[in-house]
Amino acid sequence: MSLSDIQNHISSAVSKANRKLDTVRLIAVSKMQPNERVASVLDQGHRYFGENRVQEAASKWPDFRKIYGKVSVDLIGPLQTNKVRQAMELFQAIHTVDRLKLANTIARIAQEIGSCPQLFVQVNTGEEPQKAGIFPGETDGFIASCRALDLPIAGLMCIPPVDEEPSLHFALLAKIAERNNLSGLSMGMSGDFESAIALGATHVRVGSAIFGARP
Ligand SMILES: *Cc1c(COP(=O)(O)O)cnc(C)c1O
Repeated sequence: MSLSDIQNHISSAVSKANRKLDTVRLIAVSKMQPNERVASVLDQGHRYFGENRVQEAASKWPDFRKIYGKVSVDLIGPLQTNKVRQAMELFQAIHTVDRLKLANTIARIAQEIGSCPQLFVQVNTGEEPQKAGIFPGETDGFIASCRALDLPIAGLMCIPPVDEEPSLHFALLAKIAERNNLSGLSMGMSGDFESAIALGATHVRVGSAIFGARP
């Protein structure tokens, strides 16, 4: 598929759900993709991307921004505390706030530099031991702790288990967000972004369906 195919699929999913098109943002996940493919999507006018490694993004986006101007790039992968400062300078949003130590570090640096990217709390909806994220039962308390640190929490993010029906996880994430008065829902990837939109996704993270398989 191409960028415009995905945009068309998003449009129809949005209208089927009786939602407005400007309530869903397409994050083109460019991790590990060759620069020519990323440049082609930039050439088509798209300006919203996602990366899952700080180092990789730092080696790529300052150069693209010199050519294409303002491009929004979000971090959708794990963040180590020693990379927080660099991440806060590079990214417009961080979708993977998943522990208190990280929240504390972000809060300290935000006070120091006077700004902070948009933040999403990553929820481990499937309670998978190998996966990052706050367990559903601990999420309300974690959001409260983040708010006590004055962090700008925009919403929640999840990556459903590969072998389960994703819509159950999307519905759970939406429920936790609603009871915490959070409007942002970062959910849905190449295989399931349409059902994520039906369940309220505001940020869909689509990689291989736009760029092709990662080499
Ligand atoms: C890689 C990745 C995606 C995109 O996955 P595709 O299946 O290629 O669309 C979305 N979200 C996260 C967190 C990822 O790491």
